Formats: sequence, structure tokens, C-alpha cells
Amino acid sequence: MIVKPASIKIDSISSPLFKEKEIELLVARLDLIHPIVSGNKLFKLHYFIEAAKSANKSTIVTLGGAYSNHLAATAYHCRSVGLKSIGLVRGELPAKISHTLLTCEDNGMQLIFLDRKEYPFINEDWIAKLLNTSPAQFAFIPEGGYHPLGANGASMIMTELNELNATHICTAVGTATTLAGIISSSNDDTKIIAVPVLKGMTDIEKRISFLLNNKPYNKPLILNEYHFGGYAKKSEPLIQFMNDFYKDYSIPTDFVYTGKMMFAIIEKIKTDYFPQRSRILCLHTGGLQGNASLPEHTLVF
Ligand SMILES: *Cc1c(COP(=O)(O)O)cnc(C)c1O
Repeated sequence: MIVKPASIKIDSISSPLFKEKEIELLVARLDLIHPIVSGNKLFKLHYFIEAAKSANKSTIVTLGGAYSNHLAATAYHCRSVGLKSIGLVRGELPAKISHTLLTCEDNGMQLIFLDRKEYPFINEDWIAKLLNTSPAQFAFIPEGGYHPLGANGASMIMTELNELNATHICTAVGTATTLAGIISSSNDDTKIIAVPVLKGMTDIEKRISFLLNNKPYNKPLILNEYHFGGYAKKSEPLIQFMNDFYKDYSIPTDFVYTGKMMFAIIEKIKTDYFPQRSRILCLHTGGLQGNASLPEHTLVF
């Protein structure tokens, strides 16, 4: 395994606010696992890569947008275990290729740009035709690792974190794969708090059921009002918050996921959502490379 659950650093942060509210706040720094492909993505990929290797596949094919942390992590993971990787990118080849996609290329990923109209039809047979090969030749990973294998990989994040005995665990939600993994592997009496970064995400419970193979699970608390307009949308208050959070605690966040999650949790602490003596564990799932797409000097870090 290329990431080790034991290597997750925990920051305990303090402030007059937490003291007043009698709250403990811990941040699990998955962003420090690797400087570029930090975070939850490498965990989610683990069992896909294992399955591909045991089936003797030479190539991994996956998909994502131009700023996809999942594509960057897949490229890196494949290179480190000696597999070829192909990334199907949503949207025509742009005039200027994104920082994220350059990272993918640096890690040996072959990029194929697809029309948005084709994108919904992508499956293994479709890809086999596109690559003029047979499905036996490659392993396909759904976007964001959205599959029970991805959730199973994400569950390893909790291996050592359960010992912290948090009352609440908070995570940002994209596909809900990480969330499902955390739900399936955390202590039963821990409340899981989900902060969706997409607008109007109403199918989280359906997603979790799929990801956990319809096993019963403890429902998370979903904070639906912190998407800041939708996926990768931002506004001045979010940027201001990220800069303040960095100044106060020296922890950088990203504007797509972890900035929104931390904003939500700090606001909920201020408004007494958490009972006194809560011990809140926030998962810093990484994603910092995505900040490179912001105009210079937007962030103080
Ligand atoms: C992808 C991602 C998430 C969301 O993970 P899902 O498993 O898709 O819900 C959260 N944080 C960061 C930094 C990510 O890159």
C-alpha cells in the first residue's frame, strides 16, 4: 500500500472560541501525505489498483474534469506501482492545459479529451472501442472512485483515528465515497458530519447504500448549506475565511472541499450546534494543488 494510515498527522487546534464553547477541535492532516496528490484519493484507489494488479492488467483508465484531484492521484498511484494510466478528460482540449492535468502528464498519464456530450456514455465497452482494444486489457475506475471498492479503501483512513475517540467526525463530500468509508469504519457512537460541496445534493443516502452494498449504516448529519454556489464555486467570504484560518492555525485549505468543510464546522461551533465537551475531528482531505488555479495573491499561503 502506498499510503499508511499510521502516517496521518493530527493537529489539535485551540482558540478563545473553542475554549468558550468547551470544544476540542482536531484536524487529521491527510493533506500532508504527499505534496501534490494529498489526501483521501490515494486511499480510495487502493483496492482498485490491487484488483488490477492481481488480474494482470497493465493499464488503468479513469475519468475526471480538468481540475480533478482524482485524475492527479490516479496518475501518481499508477506510476508508483508501474501501471500505465489513461485519463479521459471532460471537455475539449483547452488552449491552456490546467495545472492539475500537467501534474497528470508529469506522472505519465495519457490524456484523452472528450466532448461533454460523450461523457455520460462512458463505460468499459465504450472505452474499449475508443482505445481499439478489449475490456480485458485495462481496468476501469469510475470517476472519483465511486464504487464499493473506493469506499473500502477510504475506510482505511480510520484505522488509527478511532483511537482519538472523537464525538464527531467531519468530512467534505463530492461523490460520498470517502464519507461511506468513514461511516463503515468509525466507532458506532461517533456522529459523522457531511459537508457536500455540490449544490442540491439530495441523493447522499442512496449513494451510501450503493457504496456499502446495501448494508445498514448509521446515518450522517448532512450540512447542506455550505456549497457556496456549487462545485468549485467560491465567493469572497470563503476566500477570506481560508486566509483567516491559515493565519490563526497555520493550516492551508483548498477552495473546492476543505475550505467549505472548515467554514461549516467553525460556523456551527459559533452557533452552538455542538454540545459542550464535543471532541470534533475534521478530516483535511487535501486537494491543495487545486488552489493553483486561483489568481495569484488570492490566498496568503
Ligand atoms: C475528492 C475530494 C473529496 C471528496 O471525496 P469523495 O469521496 O468524492 O466524496 C474531499 N476532499 C478533497 C480534497 C478531495 O479531493
